[in-house]
Amino acid sequence: MINAFWGKLLRGRNGFDSFSRFLIVAALVMMIAEMIAGGGILGTVFRIISWVLLIYACFRIFSTNIPARQAELIRYNIFVRELRFRYGKVKSFIVHHRPQDVLNYKYLTCPACAQKLRVPRGKGKINVKCSRCGESFLSRS
Ligand SMILES: [Zn+2]
Repeated sequence: MINAFWGKLLRGRNGFDSFSRFLIVAALVMMIAEMIAGGGILGTVFRIISWVLLIYACFRIFSTNIPARQAELIRYNIFVRELRFRYGKVKSFIVHHRPQDVLNYKYLTCPACAQKLRVPRGKGKINVKCSRCGESFLSRS
């Protein structure tokens, strides 16, 4: 019954997709931000943004220009993938440069294969053997 109603309402329309879901979630976040901000200019700004996001989400769901909405969805998906990729890089940098590790280890690059190597600090001049290609080289630690 409800599905038939929505089916009729959304016939020939773009319908709900992940970009619209993101817009609605962002609008809810803005509403919460408005509550936290209380009144004032900041609260008004959050309210306007939340309304714009909601109206845009409704516009997308009921839009009959499906190719244009699909193109938006693809751009959104590419953007999200790019963000996830960057987040992954930042996360791996943080994991590999924890403060205790930076203090206790020195990071070297193998001259033969460019593999990143970690050696303990403060051992003087040491002979480092690359874990990837087996190249040996001297390095100050
Ligand atoms: Zn190597």
